[in-house]
Amino acid sequence: MGTARKSYSAPPQRGKRRKKRRKSRVWLPIIMFLLLLFAAWRALAFLGFVPDETSEDSRIAGLHPEVRAKMDTLIEQAAAKEIEVVITSGFRSSEEQDRLYRQGRENSGNIVTNARGGQSYHNFGLAIDFALRDGSGNIVWDMEMDRNGSGRSDWMEVVELAKALGFDWGGDWENFRDYPHLQIDFGYTIRQLQNGKYPKGSLVEVEEAVE
Ligand SMILES: [Zn+2]
Repeated sequence: MGTARKSYSAPPQRGKRRKKRRKSRVWLPIIMFLLLLFAAWRALAFLGFVPDETSEDSRIAGLHPEVRAKMDTLIEQAAAKEIEVVITSGFRSSEEQDRLYRQGRENSGNIVTNARGGQSYHNFGLAIDFALRDGSGNIVWDMEMDRNGSGRSDWMEVVELAKALGFDWGGDWENFRDYPHLQIDFGYTIRQLQNGKYPKGSLVEVEEAVE
């Protein structure tokens, strides 16, 4: 009986197996290609050519709740004027800040900051950097662009909205103009923040209390 069952069930099984093999032969290169694409994208992101979407949450999550709320309002108000604001930076750890400080000094690239770790309002969750999106969906730092056709640069329209919300703009600074930079210091100096005096509600304070 055993042999009879075997000979009866063998042919369809063989057919199934052949079909499966053909299927995997088609899928394997596609899967390999997708994996390669993902690896290339990750490499580009690592080198800073693609905004690192995965860590965006932690950058935003580390912001002071009031700064974060005003950032959301700013994005909404700009969108109402048909301006697409992209937040490229928010909370930055001291290590990240040090790495950024070395850029253009010890490392290649342009100098983008004058602050070392612990010297920037970003390190205390009180600053954000913005950029705009152009018609093709690219992130741009174009201060002349007038996509909404208002006759004024979209960049300066965003700056105006931000200032009305209580942000200070890095473009107003005397010695190092930082055009994408917006911050709310709540009247605290960097020295005070470094000494552990934080504005009420700061997440940095909560984190340190846990430690
Ligand atoms: Zn900044």
